[in-house]
Amino acid sequence: MRVVVRQENRRRLGEIEVDADKKPARATTVDSNQEVFLDWERSFDDGGQLRRCIICGSEDLFKHKTFPQITPIVIVLAFALSLIGVLGYVTDIAILIGMTGVLLLDIAILFFARTRLYCYRCRSQYRDLDIAEYHKRWDRATDSRVRGRKSRRNGPPPRRHQNRDSFA
Ligand SMILES: [Zn+2]
Repeated sequence: MRVVVRQENRRRLGEIEVDADKKPARATTVDSNQEVFLDWERSFDDGGQLRRCIICGSEDLFKHKTFPQITPIVIVLAFALSLIGVLGYVTDIAILIGMTGVLLLDIAILFFARTRLYCYRCRSQYRDLDIAEYHKRWDRATDSRVRGRKSRRNGPPPRRHQNRDSFA
């Protein structure tokens, strides 16, 4: 599987390619040449699907569909076509053909869209792997719970105890 590794502050470290069967203890990013330590303990369920982030160890993962880079182009194209249609520069048939083309392109994009797995805590991204059914889409409740846990762990600064003598 392929992992875009992020640190706990979500800064991108690089991308690694790891063999989930071999479970290597460390890997080097292919693009930034950084060494990454991997925690494989309890990372896979009985079905051999990832249930826990191997970078930070969080069990909160969500799936997200990513679309190819072409999507913005299609949106611009569709907008341009409808504008041309409204202004009446070309015949209705030409517009119809154009819109059908855009629609087909859109369907192709949906076809090529890939679901990826993300970690709530560090936002490391996993792809080229089987994604378990129990991973849900991103939701605010889980995200704020993970954030809450994070800030509690860092904790507020310890409260200073007032010295009794200062009241004297
Ligand atoms: Zn993580």
